[in-house]
This record gives sequence, structure tokens and C-alpha cells, in this order.
Amino acid sequence: EFGEISLKDIDQIARTSFPLCMRHLFEKLREEHHLKHGGRMQLGLFLKGVGLKLDDALAFWKAEFAQKVGAERFDKEYAYNDYTPYSCQKIISSTPGVGDHHGCPYRHFSEENLRAALARMGVSSRTMEDVLDKVRNRHYQLACTLTFEAVHGSPCDTGINHPNQYFIDSQKILQ
Ligand code: SF4
Repeated sequence: EFGEISLKDIDQIARTSFPLCMRHLFEKLREEHHLKHGGRMQLGLFLKGVGLKLDDALAFWKAEFAQKVGAERFDKEYAYNDYTPYSCQKIISSTPGVGDHHGCPYRHFSEENLRAALARMGVSSRTMEDVLDKVRNRHYQLACTLTFEAVHGSPCDTGINHPNQYFIDSQKILQ
């Protein structure tokens, strides 16, 4: 149990402990103040799962969306729900369309975009080749596991099979 994340810490925690799929959604939301439905679900349920307090989560979404759609429409359309946070398998098998930012970057990004994203996470060029090798063999979760190990300088023996597990394992190392 890692207690609750508070809103003021979330940008920093996103950089250190979110897997690439969630980091990407989080950054797009901050940038565009909007996410389409698939992205809202994937990120929203993840945030709920990692312990962002409900009030904080609502404040967070509202602050972002209000910049685009207005607070009133937000209240009408955004209802928190009881779905379970998505597993890697579910995310990997999703089919993001144009303008969508959900999905698994190891599966759904172009090689060029994936390289750029990994570089921004601080992955060295040698590790990057190992990661891309896994991607070419369609071992997306192994690619994510290698990334986790590289950015934390620590092994992840179980492998990554859920974004919330990535987060919890990261916090265990960093705290
Ligand atoms: Fe996210 Fe899982 Fe893909 Fe990693 S392998 S980026 S945790 S969906």
C-alpha cells in the first residue's frame, strides 16, 4: 500500500514511475487538455488504481477538460466508474485510431516515435537496441520490462504484465 498520491506530486511521479503508455497519455492530456474516450478510460482507471484520491482525480480531469470543453459539459459527461484498470494484454490488443493516444507504445508507436520516447525516458542507445529487438519479435511486455530495468537500474524478475504493477514496483524501488 503506497497511500495516496496527491495532485501536486503527480507530474513528478508521472516522470519517474509511470510506464510509457501512461506517461504518453498524461503528457498528451497536459498538452492538449483533452483525451478521446479510449485514452480517458486507460489513463483514468490507471490513476484510480495507483491511488489518486477520487476528489483529486476529479479535480485533475476537470481542470484539464475545462480548458477545452467547459466545466459544465465536463460535469455532464464525465462520470467516474467502477471498471478495473486495464492490463497490458488488454492495452496491447486495443486498436487506437487517428487522434487516439491510448494503446501500448511498444506495439502502436512507429519505430521513430518509440526511439524518441525511450530517449526522453533516459534509455541508453545500447538498451534501446535490445528493446527494439523485443518489439520486432512482438514481445511488447518484455520490451517494457527491459525499459523498466534500464530506467530503475534494478531487475524486474516477474516481468511487466500490468501498468499498475509497473507503478507499484517502481515506487518500491524509489521510496
Ligand atoms: Fe503499458 Fe504494458 Fe505496454 Fe508497458 S507493456 S507500455 S505497461 S501496456
